[in-house]
Formats: sequence, C-alpha cells, structure tokens
Amino acid sequence: TTQVRLAAYPVGVPADSDFEFATVSLPDLAEGQVLLRAIYLSLDPYVRGRMSTAKSYADPLALGDVVMGGTVCEVVESRSGDRQVGDVVLAFTGWQTHAVVDARHTRRLDPSTAPISTALGVLGMPGFTAYAGLLEIGRPKAGETVVTAAAAGPVGSAVGQIARLKGARAVGIAGGAEKCRVLVEQLGFDAAVDHRSETFVDDLAAATPDGIDVYFENVGGPVAEAVGRRLNRYARVPVCGLVAGYNDTAAAEGPDRLPGFMRRVLTLSLTVRGFIQDEFAATHTADFAREMGGWVGDGSVRYLEDVTDGLDQAPEAFRGLLSGRNLGKALVRVGTD
Ligand code: NDP
Repeated sequence: TTQVRLAAYPVGVPADSDFEFATVSLPDLAEGQVLLRAIYLSLDPYVRGRMSTAKSYADPLALGDVVMGGTVCEVVESRSGDRQVGDVVLAFTGWQTHAVVDARHTRRLDPSTAPISTALGVLGMPGFTAYAGLLEIGRPKAGETVVTAAAAGPVGSAVGQIARLKGARAVGIAGGAEKCRVLVEQLGFDAAVDHRSETFVDDLAAATPDGIDVYFENVGGPVAEAVGRRLNRYARVPVCGLVAGYNDTAAAEGPDRLPGFMRRVLTLSLTVRGFIQDEFAATHTADFAREMGGWVGDGSVRYLEDVTDGLDQAPEAFRGLLSGRNLGKALVRVGTD
C-alpha cells in the first residue's frame, strides 16, 4: 500500500514537507479481516486539528501515523463471512491506497440506492452533522431565517436545504461570486452572500431584512462577528466548526471580542450550543438515513462534489479545502470505481 503519513506538525498552512509518502507491504489477513482497495478518500477540516498537539476532543496524530479519513473501498480479499470480494464498503482507512481491517469496522454500501461517494458526504458524516445539528439545536421554524457559512460545502449546503424543507428562509455565506451563484441557482438557497466581498456586511444585512433566527456556525472569525450583530432575540447558534481558525498556530491579535459576544448572549437570550456529531448517533441515525435518503433520492436535497484525482494530490487538495478552493464535498479519487 502507498501511504501518506504525518511527517511534522504543521505551523500555519500544512506544507508538503509536513507529509511523507511511503510504500509498505500489508500483513496477511487474519480470520474476520478484509483487504480493502480505496476508491474515494474524504478530506475533512477536522483533520487539521489532529495535526496539532493542542488539546482537543480527540487525540492528535502521532508523527509517522497515516493521516486519518473516511473512505469508500472495494473488498479485494476476504476472510470474513460477512464481506465478499467485490463488496463496496464505507471504512476509515485514511490516506492510503490499501488497508487490512476487521470486517466489522466496515459498513456495506448498496451502489444501487445512491452513488457510493455520497456515503462520505451528503449521506455520510457531513450530511448527518447538518441534519442533527440543525434539527436538534437550531430547531428552525417556518418563516424564520437560517444562515450558514461554508454554505457550498457538504455541511452548509445540507443545512440550507434542510432549513428550506422545514419552511425557513435559507441564506448561505460563501467565498466568491461563483459559489454564491451555485447556492441560489442549483441548491435553492433564498439568498447568498460573498464573505470575501468588500460590501459583505451590507450585503448580509440586505439578505437578512428580518434578522437571523438560526446561525449554523461553521467558520468563526469576521463572518461570525458580522452575523452576530444581526441575531434576533431567542436565536439559536449550533456551533459546529470554526474553520477560519484551523490553520492558526498562535492567538489572534486585536481587541478581545468575547465580552461583546457574551453581552449579546445575555441580552438576546441566545442559545449557543457546541456539538460533535457523533453525540447524536444514537438518537438521530435512523431518522437521518430515512429522511435524508428520501430527500436525496427525490432530488429535494442536492449535493456537490469536488473530486481530485490521485492520492499524491491529497495534501494540496487538503490545503484547498481549508482555504475554500473546493466547491462541494472534497474527495480524492484514489482508485477507479
Ligand atoms: P467545507 O467543504 O465547507 O470546507 C470548509 C469551507 O470553509 C471552505 O470551503 C471555505 O469555503 C470555508 N472557509 C475557510 N476559511 C474561511 C474563512 N476564513 N471564513 C469563512 N469561510 C471560510 O467543509 P465541511 O462542510 O466538511 O465542514 C464545515 C464545517 O463543519 C467545518 O468547520 C468543520 O470542521 C465542521 N464540522 C463539524 C462537525 C462536528 O461534529 N461538529 C462534523 C463535520 C464538520 P468558502 O469559500 O465559502 O469560504
């Protein structure tokens, strides 16, 4: 197998020298194991957090570890009664072309119900994050305004579309005119605002004439600051991610904005609640599979994918994900499907 391993903890944007490529042979299969060939690798922002020894909700990668990630794989050898050669499975084999894993750590996919890549995006972890975070914490009501940033990514694009299915008005924030156009024309958002534009603050105000009732927080930074000023009384803020700061290795300079934020939490009776998606696994997985599967199947939720060819391109595509070069779910095609 060819692997991409963490060679050094990045300072700022991950550099090529923070990764090392290695080719190693895999062990023979033990009883219950399968040999997998990766087809798609998922690139996800949280992986940047694992490339740091700063305290977080999960342990960091050690130097020399294969970089982690969800994958869609084909079974090429099996010593498990539950998996046959040729099965397509969801696995967590990370940035490598092949892996030997216990069959029980894989989930079989049915390629006839949805394209297999969706298991890493709209019908997988990012879609689940949007579904559970929005419905459990955001609780959008008909007629309310729901705002999400990183709106062209897999989480944000699902948030906006689910909000609309619940009768709310969906406003997406994304980087660049092209992403904003796609949000409105292809994904059905009511409005989209470009956070890179000089007129962003005014554009956001124009797009949210009745204020904001739910802010699905994906980015933090100046975007969150601008949104915060437009929150309505009793607004809900599911705090899902803060990707604007993931490459920061030092604290930002400038005024401390926390007191202003806390004043708003108090005076507007805001509900601000962070979450890590797997805390909702027990309560929301069945509903997600049924509802989201139905919505994707009948076209009422659409999805975008941004596929990069070749595992050797993973570091560059990962940098692109953190800086907004992706339009849709960032995937690496590791092998043919
Ligand atoms: P995306 O594909 O949306 O990629 C991240 C996007 O963030 C970029 O494309 C970019 O889009 C935007 N972005 C980057 N920097 C900035 C910035 N400085 N200001 C504003 N926007 C920025 O990723 P996902 O949909 O996979 O993830 C979205 C968020 O959800 C992330 O924060 C992620 O960590 C979080 N997450 C949290 C989970 C949880 O359990 N809590 C689970 C899964 C994801 P643009 O061009 O629009 O700026």
